[in-house]
Amino acid sequence: MGSLPLNTFNPLDPAEFSDESHAVVDFIADYYRTVENYPVRSQVKPGYLSKLLPKQAPLFSEPIDIILEDIRHDILPGLTHWQSPNFYAYFQANASTAGFLGEMLCSGLNVVGFNWISSPAATELENIVMDWMAKLLKLPPCFLFSGGQGGGGVLHGSTCEAVVCTLVAARDRTLRKNGHDAISKLVVYASDQTHATVQKAVRIVGIPPTNFRIIPTSAASGYSLTAHSLRAAIKADVAKGFVPVYVCATVGTTAVGAVDPIRDLGKVSNEFGAWYHVDAAYAGSATICPEFRHYFDGVELADSISMNPHKWFLTNMDCCCLWVKKPSALVDSLSTNPEYLRNKASEANEVVDYKDWQISLSRRFRAIKLWVVIRRYGVINLVEHIRSDVAMAKQFEKMVSMDKRFEVVVPRKFSLVCFRLKPRFEGDDALSINQSLLEMVNSSGQAFMTHAKVDGMFVLRFSVGTTLTEMRHVEMTWKLIQAKAKDILLEDV
Ligand SMILES: *Cc1c(COP(=O)(O)O)cnc(C)c1O
Repeated sequence: MGSLPLNTFNPLDPAEFSDESHAVVDFIADYYRTVENYPVRSQVKPGYLSKLLPKQAPLFSEPIDIILEDIRHDILPGLTHWQSPNFYAYFQANASTAGFLGEMLCSGLNVVGFNWISSPAATELENIVMDWMAKLLKLPPCFLFSGGQGGGGVLHGSTCEAVVCTLVAARDRTLRKNGHDAISKLVVYASDQTHATVQKAVRIVGIPPTNFRIIPTSAASGYSLTAHSLRAAIKADVAKGFVPVYVCATVGTTAVGAVDPIRDLGKVSNEFGAWYHVDAAYAGSATICPEFRHYFDGVELADSISMNPHKWFLTNMDCCCLWVKKPSALVDSLSTNPEYLRNKASEANEVVDYKDWQISLSRRFRAIKLWVVIRRYGVINLVEHIRSDVAMAKQFEKMVSMDKRFEVVVPRKFSLVCFRLKPRFEGDDALSINQSLLEMVNSSGQAFMTHAKVDGMFVLRFSVGTTLTEMRHVEMTWKLIQAKAKDILLEDV
């Protein structure tokens, strides 16, 4: 073993590929078997890794078993274990066997399907799987390739990319109408609960950051953006000569899982000619269940809608579905046609060239991953996957509301529970006790939650939904939270 002689160097030797892939797969299987033994949130200090690893890249080849051993010793302790059943932070990033197999196929075949001819099956499977997904979410025909209205979907790596691309399309559509020097007049609307990705996209596409309107929400509307407040904000801007260009509504906000009224906001957006995007990154997966589909009512008014199968749909990172009513708007903004990519099929307009629907030229074969997930599990199991997470979250919410020291801060809609220790006396903001509680739970290594701030309240977020989480984990974590709360309330009177 040790260094390979140079004359045997073959980075894609099938026998070696098979052996070493098996070693890695076994390593990962072992990881899943033992993932509960690690502290969920990594306990390392910043800079820990440079103390462990050599300063120089190796000159000669190293064997995979040594590399895997180093991963076990040096890398795993520095991981926060997103696949731990006791991970309740942020939103879950579901891994699954099918998601992994799909990712392996994507990575192993390693085709680059930027236009149709560069890998016809990659494009065509993506067309098909986007229509499958759209049907699972019961999206209206205007978003489907097979809907006959010119719509269709594309897989991006993230919601951030989907928002940048749709905002660029919206920007150019509006500028074509209003003249290209109007960019300083374009205004983007979202709520104070909207994901920060919209703010970032505004900066990226060159709209002045001061033209981003963050409309306040309140407990009264369950932290959703009201049509009334959107209309008021737009009217005030229009009166001053501004041009509404983009409205982002959310189904399942990041802080508290709130849902904006999709139809009402759509009517206002359409009335003022703004591009209307629906961000359902997290909760979009839930709408495959009939009981959650009503949150999408009115989605036919949207210009685009996106959701992340890499969050709650058993699809390993990365995978974001974006559907657009008029993909031609994306193509108008993003298409380039250098000579070296010219080909008959594209020129005959017979095919989709996904390079014109996204930022980069090169693209991964993500469709095969999502396709394997859907086929391997079937809709029946995917629905069950969502429902069981929601049922666990419901149970957790019930346990919290039965303990008089705690309160549920925002009524739960999906599998995210937002709660806190109640203020102990009049005027108590309960900040320090909840901060301490969060830190004590997380530094115990037994569970990991994160927080949000709503209405000035420091709120604990308990997001149920890693693939391995079972009710016993939720129950144990609740006991842990109660025990830590007891310590804090004893100390802090
Ligand atoms: C997670 C999330 C995002 C960001 O998704 P990325 O794919 O990481 O860009 C955006 N919006 C909402 C509502 C989210 O939950």
